[in-house]
Amino acid sequence: MNFIEQIIEDDIKEGKNGARVHTRFPPEPNGYLHIGHAKSICLNFGLAQKYGGKTNLRFDDTNPVKEDVEYVDSIKEDIRWLGFQWDAEFFASDYFEQLYLWAEQLILKGLAYVDDSTQEEISQQRGVPTKPGTESPFRERGIEENLDLFRRMRKGEFPDGSKVLRAKIDMSSPNMHMRDPIMYRILHAEHHRTGNQWCIYPMYDYAHGESDSIEGITHSICTLEFEIHRPLYDWFVEALEIHHPQQIEFARLNLSYTVMSKRKLLQLVQEKHVMGWDDPRMPTISGLRRRGYSPRAIRNFADTIGVAKRDNVIDVSLLEFHVREDLNKVAERTMAILNPVKLVIDNYPENTTEILHAVNNPENPDAGTREIPFAKELWIEQDDFMENPPKKFFRLSPNSEVRLKYAYIIRCTHVDKDTDGNITAIHCQYFPETKSGLPDSNRKVKATIHWLPVQHVQTAEIRLFDRLFLVPDPDNAEEGKTFLDFINPNSMKIVNGFIEPHISKENAATYYQFERIGYFCIDRDATPDKLVFNKTVSLKQ
Ligand code: ATP
Ligand code: MG
Repeated sequence: MNFIEQIIEDDIKEGKNGARVHTRFPPEPNGYLHIGHAKSICLNFGLAQKYGGKTNLRFDDTNPVKEDVEYVDSIKEDIRWLGFQWDAEFFASDYFEQLYLWAEQLILKGLAYVDDSTQEEISQQRGVPTKPGTESPFRERGIEENLDLFRRMRKGEFPDGSKVLRAKIDMSSPNMHMRDPIMYRILHAEHHRTGNQWCIYPMYDYAHGESDSIEGITHSICTLEFEIHRPLYDWFVEALEIHHPQQIEFARLNLSYTVMSKRKLLQLVQEKHVMGWDDPRMPTISGLRRRGYSPRAIRNFADTIGVAKRDNVIDVSLLEFHVREDLNKVAERTMAILNPVKLVIDNYPENTTEILHAVNNPENPDAGTREIPFAKELWIEQDDFMENPPKKFFRLSPNSEVRLKYAYIIRCTHVDKDTDGNITAIHCQYFPETKSGLPDSNRKVKATIHWLPVQHVQTAEIRLFDRLFLVPDPDNAEEGKTFLDFINPNSMKIVNGFIEPHISKENAATYYQFERIGYFCIDRDATPDKLVFNKTVSLKQ
């Protein structure tokens, strides 16, 4: 049991909130979700599932400038894809009127005031944590005047930045967030949902707890950087005497070789370092999906890392481990050749095609079998042959024997070369009695290699990915440099390879294992005429 579950179980025992559990996932619709959000989603929805509670999806859309419906749609798609369904969908902007009325209440209670100070003056008044701040000259404005000014702020009588509404708390608090924080600012900006209805917008700290309260949220889970905001969260709901959700903080997920902030991901997209938000190299949920990661692998990863109270960095190889583990169970096997070289079986009959049978997934008998044509001329991987092999090379080399997967044992006899010395064909003999499944098929060889029949393949573009960043911590790798300085220039390599003839864009499985190579999936760039695959992850680390 993790510490959040402990808190919740204690609350249930005490009958707090009528023993209800109600969480929420509150994204700001200013970008696509990333794997860090996936952690938060799994946590919030997982807790509700475990304790028979509910989870709301709330778009935290209090900042009109950066938000967009495109993001709202993508967020919903990503949560559903991860396997979760919210109980109710809300927008913080739905609460603008209520938030405004509550702000008037705080003014009436003498707990909020309109301040004409400039932004610089306000930050000067706040001062530094080690010394008390100074009070604004507008702090003692009368209630009537504050109310009048605040109403006129709403009416649009004042330009941007000319006034703010501040909570009247404590200018000498050691917690800077309590030094009369700003509740409202003037912003004549169009909002993606409320249009031009408002020209004042609530700040995060004022809007968030109140939104939680309106929805009856019991446990408001957020990341560690909000721990220091918690006294303010508590102050607002207490001052307003409304339902008081409990804010609980946990450490945000950081992954090695990854940047994880929407702002930086946006920069990668806008500056075209990647193909878009769903580029398979991006840590966005849509990128991981396009890369061929399964939702279950991501959920298993999120469960395994658990929740921590201290910031830490998780090795991206742990995520890849879960991807392999899940895809091994579900991926359809197929043979593919990425770097072909021709293999000719000299003693195999000409113009003959034999149909062999291969299981689609040895981990899942229900996945059935498929037919693969076999003939005299095959493609094999260049890597599986060496003319002058070192001692421990067990694959094909002159006079050595290997098994062709699902087919026969062969012995290499010689190679053909062009005038430059490049190998143009590898010649071999096959042993008919060694066909897979026949009594003699148990003859021992040290390696089995995959292949495809030259006459019966289709070509495909295959995109091979490496890490997007060259260093484990691109944000802090070197003084004076930014994450952009550590982008891996070779993070995508495109090869034209061969795959089995039966696969098409229309009938493609969601996940493939290219035998002996790795996991792959069809990319959305594929067309009926041209298949495009993404490499998800290699078979082994
Ligand atoms: P970013 O800093 O990447 O822009 P954010 O925190 O601003 O992320 P929000 O849309 O505000 O993004 O986040 C929605 C929810 O997801 C919040 O509850 C936030 O705490 C959580 N979250 C965001 N990033 C992470 C992370 N790396 N690990 C865990 N939870 C996260
Ligand atoms: Mg944010």
